[in-house]
Amino acid sequence: MAQDSPEEQSAIAYEGYGKIKFAGVLETNFQAHYRRRYLKHIRRVLILGLVIFVFAGGLDLIIVQEDVYELWQLRYLYFLPFIFSIVMFSFSRQFINYQQLCLMAIIILSGICLLLMSVITTRVESHIYYTGVLLTIMAGLTATRMQIKSGMVVTAVLGLTTLVVYSGFSPVSGRLLIADLFLLLTVCVISLLSNYNLERASRKNYLRRRLLYRRQEVLEESNKYLRAIASSDSLTGVANRRIFDDVIVDEWKRALRGQYPITLFMIDVDYFKNYNDAYGHQAGDECLKAIAKVLSGFCRRPGDQLARYGGEEFALVLPQMVLDDAYLLGDEICQKIRLLDISHSGSQIADLITVSVGMATQVPEEEGAYDNFIRQADKNLYQAKNQGRDCTYCDRASTEAKLVQNS
Ligand code: GH3
Ligand code: MG
Ligand code: MG
Repeated sequence: MAQDSPEEQSAIAYEGYGKIKFAGVLETNFQAHYRRRYLKHIRRVLILGLVIFVFAGGLDLIIVQEDVYELWQLRYLYFLPFIFSIVMFSFSRQFINYQQLCLMAIIILSGICLLLMSVITTRVESHIYYTGVLLTIMAGLTATRMQIKSGMVVTAVLGLTTLVVYSGFSPVSGRLLIADLFLLLTVCVISLLSNYNLERASRKNYLRRRLLYRRQEVLEESNKYLRAIASSDSLTGVANRRIFDDVIVDEWKRALRGQYPITLFMIDVDYFKNYNDAYGHQAGDECLKAIAKVLSGFCRRPGDQLARYGGEEFALVLPQMVLDDAYLLGDEICQKIRLLDISHSGSQIADLITVSVGMATQVPEEEGAYDNFIRQADKNLYQAKNQGRDCTYCDRASTEAKLVQNS
């Protein structure tokens, strides 16, 4: 079952290197998960980046001294408003949909700002800002847990911009320029590799969690199925004897606590052996199913329970049913079964299927006495058979005596 799930298939396909995306809807779900998962983390990193960007203005003063106004103009006047707006936007609800785009924008802007700062003055010290560009690429790609696709865009844009800017305004000589570009390439490659590994780790974790969740679901489904099989009768679909045994004990205890009457009907099909003999076992099964369906209709309130007691015998437990209603119901059961109008040539009392009903009603007086209660209903069923079948029997005098005694 679980083998065919999309998670399982993706997990198999995801082994080994090279592959980064999932297939189909799993990818869409992962993207949504990824954005939610790192939302707070990204906000924190952005705030930290903003703080560093603002306070690094102090370093400008140390590095270039009297030329600092040019740098501050660039830093605070041209770039800070954009960077600040993006960081503020990260607190809006819409941000989650533009997370990667905003990350790319902020890292590219910071990188370009530092790149320009490294060439804007003629002072040789300003070359230190080039290190800032490298740091921005490395930290920007890894600390934000940027996705590899966005990382590639950032490195491509910043790499190309550096090439363009440095080909015209390089502050350093030819040999140093080669070293600079080599460093840039190294930083880009290392950052992208880290990026790739981080994203794959996230994806693997996500898959593992989804698989675990899916397996739990399958397990729960099969547990439910097993519970249903274990508690229902396979032929008629109603509760089986095991459930009856539990229900009668529970309802008996509840009725004892609440001191209200509980009614039990034992219902047995008349001359059913003859029915099988006349119409075959399969027809007998169909007949039992039809009877079970009719009897299920008598479970009208919570706590009412029908069960197949065994063979062609059913038990109906009805808590909180007063004696007069129980009598009426017993007759209604016999009537409804007759109304099924199933021909029964082997019956000695009618030409259609009928049932006999033994009824017991009692307000429980002690906890373990439900055994006697069942026995009483069984005895009354026997009496119903003796009285000619197709009827309900209850030892009215003794039942009323018991009810009066207990009330
Ligand atoms: P009575 O009126 O005295 O109850 O007679 P009866 O023939 O119904 O009673 P008996 O106990 O002699 O026979 C019960 C029959 O019910 C015998 C058995 O073959 C049949 N039976 C029990 N379980 C099933 C079942 O699942 N399917 C079918 N088709 N028959 C069943
Ligand atoms: Mg019978
Ligand atoms: Mg029987």
